[in-house]
Amino acid sequence: MSSSNSSATGNTSKLPPVPLLDVNRGNWEIRDEVREAISKVVDSGRFLHGPDVEKLEQRIAEICQTKHAISCASGSDALLLALMALELEPDDEIIVPSFTFFATASCVWRLGCKIVFADIDPKTYNVTEATIAAVTTPKTRAIIPVHLFGQCAQIDRICRFAAERNIVVIEDAAQAIGAAYHGRAAGCWGDVGCLSFYPTKNLGSMGDGGMMTTNDTKMAERLKLYANHGMQPRYYHQVVGINSRLDTIQAAVLNVKMDHLASYTQKRRDNATKYFEMFSGAGLAEELGMPYRDPAAYHVWNQFSLRVQGGRRDALRQHLQSQQIGCEIYYPVPLHRQQCFASLGYAEGSLPETERATREILHIPIYPEMTAMEQERVVAGVTSFYREGYYRKAA
Ligand SMILES: *Cc1c(COP(=O)(O)O)cnc(C)c1O
Repeated sequence: MSSSNSSATGNTSKLPPVPLLDVNRGNWEIRDEVREAISKVVDSGRFLHGPDVEKLEQRIAEICQTKHAISCASGSDALLLALMALELEPDDEIIVPSFTFFATASCVWRLGCKIVFADIDPKTYNVTEATIAAVTTPKTRAIIPVHLFGQCAQIDRICRFAAERNIVVIEDAAQAIGAAYHGRAAGCWGDVGCLSFYPTKNLGSMGDGGMMTTNDTKMAERLKLYANHGMQPRYYHQVVGINSRLDTIQAAVLNVKMDHLASYTQKRRDNATKYFEMFSGAGLAEELGMPYRDPAAYHVWNQFSLRVQGGRRDALRQHLQSQQIGCEIYYPVPLHRQQCFASLGYAEGSLPETERATREILHIPIYPEMTAMEQERVVAGVTSFYREGYYRKAA
């Protein structure tokens, strides 16, 4: 960023940048398999449905420990379809976190229902039974807990709370494929689980894709119906659905990647463990807010977050950027403070933990193909910020 920073960091600019994520590295290793899989689809002339899509649905159902998995065009559509299948009334309230990606809340808005934001637990960044209970009313129809950054929310408690009140639970597991809580997979706890295959997710396609998981056979039928224009049989429309399909080419790519998902996840977990060791080795574990690891959760580390206190987050970000170390803020503006939701009337300060997280959080690279040397550079970059007083200069 600033010239004083780049001169202060000496010759680090000669080193290649450390990307926050490099999808090409993973794809390079499997490119022959992927090309062959795509070629087969091209030759088949069948670009929607078919055995590749069915195979992927079965495999996703298996790892999510559900009876059914229904493919759709994106994670955003999965959330929208799950809500559509509930046949909501305009008065209905849906509880969602504000500290999440936009799609968790926009689906509620699209259906004309009321978005109710819940605050988060400052340790996990996830909504909890308590933050949900605080905003539950007799009009609450559904809750969409998000398993943020790859770690499950306390989904056992949330589901128990919801079941006692006849509230539907839709898990937003877009960042949490392969994660688990008390040994049970993300996506199998709620009435519906929603997955995304956006390229930056732990299982990323080469385009868009999504999946809905459920143990409820009737729900599975409704999800399929809504994803196919509400059409059953052909040209007879029972309800007004949408067109949301997973391209066969994407399914073919994802089937290749599914063979490697366990190893991708393990590498993310290993990288996380190394960060914990390296930051404690550097004596920074206290000062730097390391991510909290819920002992009941099997974390799949879609993101590795630091909590940077004392108003230094943006300075640390600039410091890392000046050394060409990739970092990012997920998410800089909470949803309840987005312009498009201004009419909901959430003032600043209404969700204090959410707002604090948006001011303090910073994400550093954790993707599976990151090298040991790159990881050392990330840690050295963060350490130099604290130890060499860059934040004082930046302030
Ligand atoms: C990525 C993401 C989505 C949306 O998925 P798309 O496939 O990009 O539509 C929804 N919720 C969360 C938490 C996400 O991270």
